[in-house]
Amino acid sequence: MSSDHTTSSRCHGEFKHFKTAVLDDGILLAGFDYFGKSVNVLNVESLSEWQEIVQFAEQSAAVKGVVLVSVKEGNFCAGADLEQMHDAQRQRSFHEMEQLVITAHRLFDAMGRSPKPFVAAVEGACLGGGLELALACHARIASTHPRTCFALPEVKLGILPGFGGTQRLPRLIGVPAALDMITTGKTVFPRQALSMGLAEGMVTSIPSTVRTLEGIQKETLVQAAIAQARGLCSAPARRRHLRASQRLLSVAGVRSLVCRYARYRVFKRVRHFYPAPLHAIDAVERGMRVSISEGSLTVEKPLLLDLMASPISSHLVGLFLAGEEVKRKVVTVQAAITRVGVLGAGLMGSQIAGQLAEKGYTVVLRDVSPDILATAIGRIHTTQTAQVRKRIILPSDLRYRMTRIAPTIHIRDVIVASLVIEAVSEKLDVKRAVLAEFESQARPDAIFATNTSSYTLADIAAKAVHPERCVGLHFFNPVAKMQLVEVVHAPFTSDMALAQACSLAKRLGKFPLVVRDGPGFLVNRILSRYLAEAVIMVGEGISIRRIDTVAKNFGMAVDSGHPMGPLELLDLIGLPVAMHVLTSLSVLGSRIESRDALLRNFLPDKKPPLTFWTSGKENAQALDTVAKYRCAFPSEADPISDDILHQRLFLPMVDEAIRCLHDKIVEHPWQVDFALTYGIGFPAFRGGLLTWARQTMTPGHIAQALESLAIKFGKRFEPCPGLSNGGW
Ligand code: NAD
Repeated sequence: MSSDHTTSSRCHGEFKHFKTAVLDDGILLAGFDYFGKSVNVLNVESLSEWQEIVQFAEQSAAVKGVVLVSVKEGNFCAGADLEQMHDAQRQRSFHEMEQLVITAHRLFDAMGRSPKPFVAAVEGACLGGGLELALACHARIASTHPRTCFALPEVKLGILPGFGGTQRLPRLIGVPAALDMITTGKTVFPRQALSMGLAEGMVTSIPSTVRTLEGIQKETLVQAAIAQARGLCSAPARRRHLRASQRLLSVAGVRSLVCRYARYRVFKRVRHFYPAPLHAIDAVERGMRVSISEGSLTVEKPLLLDLMASPISSHLVGLFLAGEEVKRKVVTVQAAITRVGVLGAGLMGSQIAGQLAEKGYTVVLRDVSPDILATAIGRIHTTQTAQVRKRIILPSDLRYRMTRIAPTIHIRDVIVASLVIEAVSEKLDVKRAVLAEFESQARPDAIFATNTSSYTLADIAAKAVHPERCVGLHFFNPVAKMQLVEVVHAPFTSDMALAQACSLAKRLGKFPLVVRDGPGFLVNRILSRYLAEAVIMVGEGISIRRIDTVAKNFGMAVDSGHPMGPLELLDLIGLPVAMHVLTSLSVLGSRIESRDALLRNFLPDKKPPLTFWTSGKENAQALDTVAKYRCAFPSEADPISDDILHQRLFLPMVDEAIRCLHDKIVEHPWQVDFALTYGIGFPAFRGGLLTWARQTMTPGHIAQALESLAIKFGKRFEPCPGLSNGGW
């Protein structure tokens, strides 16, 4: 690059968020580097600078084509500035957002119409508006960097892709594939992007350590994008031809059937709770009848603004920003851990080991017998192979990941690890014995992180020689899918142990929510009120289907794509584990009433536990068991309405959440909202448990409702004193 051949005085390093240079052969290299943020975002400031660059490229005879690249490693562009959008939602003032959308549409349209080619060199996450920016280019070259991915996740924020994404994507990759990406927000990895036509090229490229425009210009990715731009200068881009099947499914008549099917799929997945995917389908269907620019301004924009103004979007964006805050709070650790031990290769240990290997850790996996280890390794291999099948990784990546896990039956092999995650059987004496064994062998500074779900950290570390090394890392099942990790600290936990545990969870791509030690920590403590009440109602003779239907109609677990009531959730957790948690939480007092006499009948000798559901139907054996229980413990209960049933399930959770705040398990109500949404599938569109409670009833009314339930159904409903005061 010749530094004297820079664009103009304005383009000569004077932008705040872009670095630019014109190369000898007339390619303008623009490096996106949003000032003051770790990721690139599109807002009024960055878009107006990009507009200047586009205008300059159009007007300057010296410029033949443009390559857009990110200077930030691992992030091409994260999309629109959500903090700005959330401010607009809170102030109910959308004028600025509307102007931003109009600017983006005009600008992206100008790029598309420009005779000079624009090529996006994509390394790292290319999301939302970032992908829409790349779609407005004439070509996209992707690097195989592990963080490179493409997605339009707007529906997860209650909106639709509003910078022309609903118009350009179907034209590029066909209507069915575009609808799939847009209505689910799913992530597409480089090999998938290449095969579906989202990227024109893919290269293996090593990111430069010097993150300057001069430094990254030497990367294979940028060289490939420059070559592509040069090629397009001499032979203007011909429109890519869709494969015959995609072409057929995109023609007008068939398209309406494809859209109808997409609506059916959306309804099946999220019922009527989320309007955004349905609006997005409308935008695609109607937009395909007109030009891109007309579709963007007259179809997509009004639908976007409508969604942006809805409380659902405001709740979803609020929860997203809460997640960012959780990650931001993590204290960075100077010497990050690279070798981790996992004790216990059962259901949780094997999943945790798989995740660690996937994210580049070296893992020593220890269990008591070679057979258990062999089964665990087989399970990890199967899960990882699915990623090869889906073209997310190469077979060589899979082999490399598997070699990072060393199975062993000897505790001495674990001493190489600086942090050990304990996921052995949920028995206190076993956990204490494992901790003692660890202390006798481990390095003096090694950290012991327990994944217990029913004991407190204080219980487990009661006999520890070095309790300061002990911390909780409470993963949820299934580990790959559940983004929340409770990082538990007791008064004796050292800052270093807490920081290392948090940074490990963050590197695994999780939200490390720091919670104080206490029975059930935060999530299981609140969840247990919900599950216990569902079991009590079964014992009263209320039908399994009715209880779960009330919860599903409220939206429980709808965000996972599989709405689920408390009894189906109990089946998923497994009754033995659930009973253990409920029993251990009886230390909280009379408000956790378990029905062991009923549930014990669900655990036949030497047979798998009974489930409430089987193949989508109420389990006949479970119904028999309940009938027998009701003969032995007859109870006369008046019929109750769905409304009371609903109150019985959800109001005790609100009460328990306020008690948790009082006990300082976490400090802020938003942390409860966040944890319950990501930990147990409380419906995100309601904004979280406490936001929902606040917006539906006054604190006084909630307290009154709980008092009435206490009179009718028992003391367990008595509200905590702090509830009616509000302030939560
Ligand atoms: P599991 O029974 O599937 O696995 C436990 C494993 O520990 C078994 O393979 C057992 O052989 C092994 N083990 C026993 N003693 C050991 C020792 N001394 N050294 C090494 N390994 C030993 O149990 P799980 O469901 O994986 O649960 C493990 C932990 O994770 C428990 O503390 C549980 O409460 C917690 N947890 C479970 C879930 C869940 O959904 N199952 C969710 C969150 C947390």
